[in-house]
Amino acid sequence: MEADVVVVGLGPGGEQVAEDLAESGLDVVGIEAELVGGECPYWGCIPSKMMVRAAGLLAEGRRVPGMAGTSVVTPDWSPVARRIREEATDTWDDTVAADRLREKGGRLVRGRARVAGPRAVEVDGETVTARRGLVLATGQRAWVPPMFEGVQHWTNRDAIAAERVPRSLLVVGGGPVGLELGQVMARFGAAVTIVEEGDRLALAEEPEASELIAEVLNREGVVVHTGVEIERVEPWGDTGATVHLTDGRSLRGERTLVATGRRSDLTSLGVGALGLDEGARSIPVDGRMRVAPGVWAVGDVTGKGAFTHVAAYQARLCVADILGRPRPEADYRALPRVTFTEPEIGSVGLTEAQARRGGGAVTVLRDSITASARGWIHRGEGFVKLGARDDVLVGATAMGPYGGEVLSHLALAVHARITLETMRSMIFAYPTFHRAVDSALWSSPSSAAKMAGA
Ligand SMILES: Cc1cc2nc3c(=O)[nH]c(=O)nc-3n(C[C@H](O)[C@H](O)[C@H](O)COP(=O)(O)OP(=O)(O)OC[C@H]3O[C@@H](n4cnc5c(N)ncnc54)[C@H](O)[C@@H]3O)c2cc1C
Repeated sequence: MEADVVVVGLGPGGEQVAEDLAESGLDVVGIEAELVGGECPYWGCIPSKMMVRAAGLLAEGRRVPGMAGTSVVTPDWSPVARRIREEATDTWDDTVAADRLREKGGRLVRGRARVAGPRAVEVDGETVTARRGLVLATGQRAWVPPMFEGVQHWTNRDAIAAERVPRSLLVVGGGPVGLELGQVMARFGAAVTIVEEGDRLALAEEPEASELIAEVLNREGVVVHTGVEIERVEPWGDTGATVHLTDGRSLRGERTLVATGRRSDLTSLGVGALGLDEGARSIPVDGRMRVAPGVWAVGDVTGKGAFTHVAAYQARLCVADILGRPRPEADYRALPRVTFTEPEIGSVGLTEAQARRGGGAVTVLRDSITASARGWIHRGEGFVKLGARDDVLVGATAMGPYGGEVLSHLALAVHARITLETMRSMIFAYPTFHRAVDSALWSSPSSAAKMAGA
């Protein structure tokens, strides 16, 4: 089989490359080992956010007393499981996505591809050759530490497909996946314990965000253990595990969700045939997503940020390069991240620690979300933190109600290298959550340091 472009892996990155190139008239073959659409629509972003939304409604219902009357909230997982099956994943059937690719002129090959050379892959013994380019978009999979071998456990996929909420859930890993799914399950009635090896939850975020999310989770009944190491794991009951910590304590759950990160498997992809290190964590790409002459890579596999929006951004750059259309090279300075816990953690660019490591005159400003009248009205919790170098905004966190939405103009400001002085000259609508940005801008750097515990 031959095509102009061969795309391996049809998650958000590869699917967009394949569809856009096919639409622009190229002969495209897309190869997919599982479901066209990848992790995001079937086991990631979409169904997990449906779960978050449902759990958020329960939390809102529980807030009625003292603000709007009385409420009795009775969680029921069945509508969540049903929506995930019927509305989000078609019960994990990708016919719609596969047809969309074909309608745009692409050809779909089902199977697991292995790179055979600079412009060729093998699928089930057949060679597929690319006349113009090979695009690798194979994503990542949940990484499960070897100590869980032989012990029943969930990854994100099992949690998303769950038809029932376990009585108790042990979550191993306090990153975005563990935090979002842990809080959801707790709000639906599971006794949740989160175990994190690092000294705080949400390690990639500002320490204030870690502190606040731990406090909120505790209040919601979630038990959090940070700075602990797992010594060994053994089966418990029919479906559960006992996790023995090196400090002698043991923890148990009817189910154990392993959320210890995600990794690419470059060995089975066979990138050695391109002269690349198969033991590496990611495929190195340049600013146009080029790996080698005639080879591109996009999405999680590039290690530039495991987010659908990174895959989509890189797909555009890759398509432009293959079609010979000029476009600015990749720039990740203003890469936004959102952890959809409640409060939601939205952040962009550098954290304070990263900004300080980079030198220059660093200013850090911060204020509570309740400083915006709307945050106070809602009894919201959270903060806005801004980091500037030589007065140019280089990073920000908006934690609180709709933190990911409040983040939007901060991401624009980092992207466009806006100064704090320019931001101070803006008018912020009253009373909105994002007015906390205005009050942070006018706060004094010393009070910000004091609030951050510095
Ligand atoms: C629980 C969870 C929640 C998430 N929530 C968010 C969120 O809210 N926002 C966000 O931006 N991101 C979120 N993500 C991350 C997001 O899902 C990924 O960043 C995104 O799916 C990456 O897209 P991709 O195209 O790089 O890879 P993937 O989506 O992983 O797709 C890669 C595809 O390649 C296929 N493949 C792999 N190897 C081969 C091969 N050798 N041959 C053929 N096919 C192959 C796979 O089967 C897969 O379909 C979440 C992830 C998880 C797990």
